[in-house]
Amino acid sequence: MGCIFCKIIKGDIASEIVYRDDRVVAIRDIEPKAPIHVLVLSVEHIASLSATTDEHRPLIGHMVAVANELARSEGIAESGYRLVINSGPDAGQDVHHLHLHVLGGRKLGWRT
Ligand code: 5GP
Ligand code: ZN
Repeated sequence: MGCIFCKIIKGDIASEIVYRDDRVVAIRDIEPKAPIHVLVLSVEHIASLSATTDEHRPLIGHMVAVANELARSEGIAESGYRLVINSGPDAGQDVHHLHLHVLGGRKLGWRT
């Protein structure tokens, strides 16, 4: 399958991995929109947040908790950070594999 995040998780495509466990892999975004821009990927291939079901609730909670820990380890817990999940065309979701953006390290505007 042609999913770029599945390839990164398998190690077929190189990426800077900042955290890994059995349910999530966190990498640095290749095109960072802020000084800190980490992506928390689900290990399981799920096309989008809207494709998740009740069984994924613990996973989604885990992704948010890992993002919070990463904010701490990346040094932006106090200065502030934003979590973003783009789901579907109107949100501009480019990669159809569930992921959560952790953005910080500068003052963030509403859109950017
Ligand atoms: P989306 O728009 O789907 O929410 O976000 C996809 C994100 O993945 C973008 O911020 C984009 O820069 C990032 N991205 C796309 N391809 C790669 C890649 O090969 N490696 C890494 N590290 N990030 C990627
Ligand atoms: Zn995938």
